[in-house]
Amino acid sequence: MSTSTLPAMKTNPKFVFFTDFDGTITQSDSNDYLTDTLGMGTELRKKGNQDVLFDRKSFRQSFGEMMHSVSETTPYDKCIDILLKNIKLDVGFRDFLEWSTAQNVPVVVLSSGMEPIIRALLVHLIGPLANDIQIVSNTVAPRDGKSINEVGGWEIVFHDESHFGHDKSREIRPYKALPQEERPTMFYAGDGVSDLSAAKETDLLFAKKGHDLVNYCVRENVPFEVFEDWSSILSTVQSIVAGKATVQEVVARGLEEVKSGNA
Ligand SMILES: [Mg+2]
Repeated sequence: MSTSTLPAMKTNPKFVFFTDFDGTITQSDSNDYLTDTLGMGTELRKKGNQDVLFDRKSFRQSFGEMMHSVSETTPYDKCIDILLKNIKLDVGFRDFLEWSTAQNVPVVVLSSGMEPIIRALLVHLIGPLANDIQIVSNTVAPRDGKSINEVGGWEIVFHDESHFGHDKSREIRPYKALPQEERPTMFYAGDGVSDLSAAKETDLLFAKKGHDLVNYCVRENVPFEVFEDWSSILSTVQSIVAGKATVQEVVARGLEEVKSGNA
């Protein structure tokens, strides 16, 4: 595939940063927040996540049920209003974005959430700098002949037919397949079950401390570096971009941390 067809290759970057949105760029997960406070509640939501982790349900099925339970109580515009008041940006992400924009390191959001919510939150939390971020995600549509801004009037529309609903690896693979001289070094940051499809695809994976993705990567032997917020991601990526560290060194360091129990 020619680079011109890949959105993040427009500026011929040497590095591309793919990232999850909910719970990774934000401090808490907006879909969890909706499900816990307006939908089926925390207990059933956690059970749904466990079902996915242990292969009892697909992510698509479990997450679809969660969003359906929110739609049954709350119009879509009301959901966005509530999230704008309650979801905060993760520490250090703004600094990371300013640096990456200046350094020609495109940031691509790969999300299992819905595009209108993600764009509204990004613009609200970051401002105009967020307009250039590419978002690849699910979206929303009316249902039962209603408007999305009525109770029971919206439903999630999945990005693809995979059991993930949005198979994040599909967006990354064409970049991996580029000829060696064009292929950028790729990073990915994530925190949870929606990131399982992407976890093995990039050169360096950052997994958020204390979250499901860490457990999954340990279990599946997927190398990663643990992060608590974006300040450590920024310093690691800066050192790689500046040639002071290699991806291989960082991966080896991550494996040591897991072995010593610090992850
Ligand atoms: Mg997440």
